[in-house]
Amino acid sequence: MQDWADTFGPYAPHPSLAVDDERFAAAFERFTGRLEDNYPFFHPRYAGQMLKPPHPAAVVGYLTAMLINPNNHALDGGPATAAMEREVVASLATMFGYDTHLGHLTTSGTVANLEALFVARELHPGRGIAHSADAHYTHGRMCHVLGTKGHPVPTDGRGRMDLDALDDLLRTGDVGTVVLTTGTTGLGAVDPVHLALPIARRHGVRVHVDAAYGGFFTLLAGADGPEGIPAEPWRAVARCDSIVVDPHKHGLQPYGCGAVLFRDPEVGRFYLHDSPYTYFTSAGLHLGEISLECSRAGASAAALWLTFQLLPPTPEGLGRVLAAGRRAALDWSRLIDESPYLTLYQKPELDIVSYFPALEPATLSGIDAASGRILADGMAAPDPVFLSTLRADREAFTARHPGITADADGARILRSVLMKPESEHHVEHLHARVEHLTGPH
Ligand SMILES: *Cc1c(COP(=O)(O)O)cnc(C)c1O
Repeated sequence: MQDWADTFGPYAPHPSLAVDDERFAAAFERFTGRLEDNYPFFHPRYAGQMLKPPHPAAVVGYLTAMLINPNNHALDGGPATAAMEREVVASLATMFGYDTHLGHLTTSGTVANLEALFVARELHPGRGIAHSADAHYTHGRMCHVLGTKGHPVPTDGRGRMDLDALDDLLRTGDVGTVVLTTGTTGLGAVDPVHLALPIARRHGVRVHVDAAYGGFFTLLAGADGPEGIPAEPWRAVARCDSIVVDPHKHGLQPYGCGAVLFRDPEVGRFYLHDSPYTYFTSAGLHLGEISLECSRAGASAAALWLTFQLLPPTPEGLGRVLAAGRRAALDWSRLIDESPYLTLYQKPELDIVSYFPALEPATLSGIDAASGRILADGMAAPDPVFLSTLRADREAFTARHPGITADADGARILRSVLMKPESEHHVEHLHARVEHLTGPH
């Protein structure tokens, strides 16, 4: 960075920006002290939510580009990082099997989904949007924002969209777009895209795939070995109209990196644009002309680009990282299955393990209280373990475990997202700790 900066000749920083070294040191000490109020997302003993630090390549890519601070809204804001953005978006499109695409990075999966649903609404004005009851909660919220009716579709006993219910709903003609989730945020359930797609097409309905969490698992579709996952839903994604994936979840990136891809580049026409300030260095398409957001960090594109140079979105690249988490989830679910102290809530489809304490008698209220206690005790213990809880409602719980006494509307269960490859070598310890936390034995 400095070598490049030096080519423009020397200049003096303005005195108004100068800070005293001692004051900086004191402020920095307060700052790092404040940061200790955190959870150790980097450590294998953290097996809770979808959180982990970025890869060192992403950190270096981000920080280096951030020193220039390009804005990927327009080519005038940073030609290099705009070019990198096009390249990484093309790699993502290739990963999903798109042969044509229009797409860009966003600051989040939520904004990426909003863009996909905005385009969907423009193509089917006056018709609603269907998504599964287990889809990310922001779909309902975005339908509200877009002034479009959202239609939650019930899920089956594994958390996937019920296709008979979808067919019945589409028959009404009220729906213009269906959102399929390949990897729900709660359980990692994959909607059967290959079976839902023909139903949607029969009714003339658009299909959007929310792969914000699960998208990179397409690298394990049909793979040999225990980590392989069924290929059919993922192969069918290539025939869907739009896709969202979050590189800041499974793509080793810092927060601020989502992506939306459209199969038909023509949808760019919906992004009305007439900015008097920008676009003077090129007649080519600027990223800001096909994005709802204006300013976006060029550093995000830089971080992803540098990461993909080293760990590309291929089975041999990033696929190996996801495979380790998937094996961890399978190993742990096997241990839970054999345990007298824990019960598997459902088999993991990706890398999310769901389980609950095996109680006698087994009641929803008892499981709820015990899950809450294990979560809290796990974090407070001298050899801590960090889990998360997920609320399962009565119908979902009894569909999987009919023997339960349903004395409440639902229950919290325990949930562990094993998205760090290091988890693979930590499963036995995690399991022993959680077993121990279930009670005295
Ligand atoms: C995380 C997630 C989102 C929301 O993405 P953000 O990046 O958190 O805004 C949407 N859908 C699914 C399936 C997700 O897992």
